[in-house]
Amino acid sequence: MEAIRIENVRKVFGGSVVALDGLNLEIEAGELFFLLGASGCGKTTLLRCIAGLETPTEGKVFFGDADVTSLAPHKREAAMVFQSYALWPHLTVGQNIAFGLEERKVPKAEIKKRVAEALEMVQLGGYGGRSIDQMSGGQQQRVSLARALVVKPRCLLLDEPLSNLDAQLRVEMRREIRSIVKENGLTGIYVTHDQEEALAMADRLAVLSWGKIGQVGTPEEVYRQPVNSYVAGFIGETNLIEGEVMEMHDGFCFVKVNGAPLVGRVTVEGWQAKAGDAATVSIRPEAWRLHKEGGENEISGKIVERSYLGQRIEYFIETAVGKQQVVEMNPHVIHETGDEIVLHARHGDVVVFPK
Ligand code: ATP
Repeated sequence: MEAIRIENVRKVFGGSVVALDGLNLEIEAGELFFLLGASGCGKTTLLRCIAGLETPTEGKVFFGDADVTSLAPHKREAAMVFQSYALWPHLTVGQNIAFGLEERKVPKAEIKKRVAEALEMVQLGGYGGRSIDQMSGGQQQRVSLARALVVKPRCLLLDEPLSNLDAQLRVEMRREIRSIVKENGLTGIYVTHDQEEALAMADRLAVLSWGKIGQVGTPEEVYRQPVNSYVAGFIGETNLIEGEVMEMHDGFCFVKVNGAPLVGRVTVEGWQAKAGDAATVSIRPEAWRLHKEGGENEISGKIVERSYLGQRIEYFIETAVGKQQVVEMNPHVIHETGDEIVLHARHGDVVVFPK
C-alpha cells in the first residue's frame, strides 16, 4: 500500500501541447481512485507519469515519502494494465505472466508458484498452458491483470481496462477488479471516460479538464455537489440554467432566471457573489418533482416529450427557465405529452456555482 502525491506536475509534448498544466493531487494508500474526463484532458498522461512511462516537464511524483519522478518504471512497485491487454501472442498464458518475473531474475520454482497464484486471483486457475489466441477478450484482460499482480506491486494502474469488453462482462469485472485491489491492499488508479464505471467502483475520483483538476471527491460528493458546469455535465446528466445572482446567504444562492427565482446550495468554497453576477443553476433530472401543488423552486411547464423506460419515465418539459429534463422513478401517475404541470425541486437538491 502506498500513498501517491502529485506536486505541480506539468507535461508539455513537442514544446506546445500542454497535456498536464500544474496539477496537484493526493491519492491515499489503499484507495481505488479514478481519473475521469473528456478525451484529451490528460488522464493517460498523468497515469503514465505515475507509472514512470513519461517524465513530467516540471513537478514531482511521490510514492509515500519517496520522490520517484526520475525512477525507472520497474523500480516503482507499480504495475500497469492497458486497454489493449498488450500480451505476447506467441507466448502461452503462463509465459506471458512469468515474463516480468524472469526479467527480475526470480528463481524458476518461485516463478511457477507465483504464476499459479496470480492465475487463481483472476479466476483462471489451470489455464497457464493455453495459448493467448485460445482465450476470449475477457480472459485476455484477466491474463493482463494477472501479469500485473504477479510482480506484487503496491500500486495498480489501470488504463481503460474494460473498454474492449461487452457490457455484461464489464459489470462483472468491475466487482472483481475492486475486490482484487482491496484484498491485496493495493493503491489503485483507474483511468476511464465511463462515468458509471467510476461512480460504481471509486472510493474517490478526480474529474480532469484541460490538464487541470476540475474537482476531487467521493462519487456522491462530486455527483451531488459539482463545482462547475463541466463537472456537473460530465458526471451524470443535469439541467444547466444561466441566471443572475440576487443574493446569497447561509450557503444558499438566490438566482433570477427569466423573472423566476431559483434557489440552490453553493458548492464553491469562498465564492462571494454580488447581486447581478452571472451564475449557473444545476438541477439533476431526478431532483425535479412533478406535482399538482408545488414546493420549493416551483415553476410551471408543459410536457413536450415523454419516454417510458420501465421503472422510470423521462420527460422533457418546456418552462420559463428553458426545456427541463425530468426523470421520475417508479411513477404512480404517468403524464401525457401536452399536459400542463408544476415542477419543483428542493433547495438542498439544487446547486449554484459561478458561470
Ligand atoms: P483519451 O480519453 O482520449 O485517451 P486522455 O485524457 O487520456 O484522452 P492524454 O492521452 O493524456 O488524454 O492526452 C492529453 C493531451 O496530450 C492530448 O492533447 C494528446 O493529444 C496529447 N499527447 C498525449 N501523448 C502525446 C505524445 N506522446 N505526443 C504528443 N502529444 C501527446
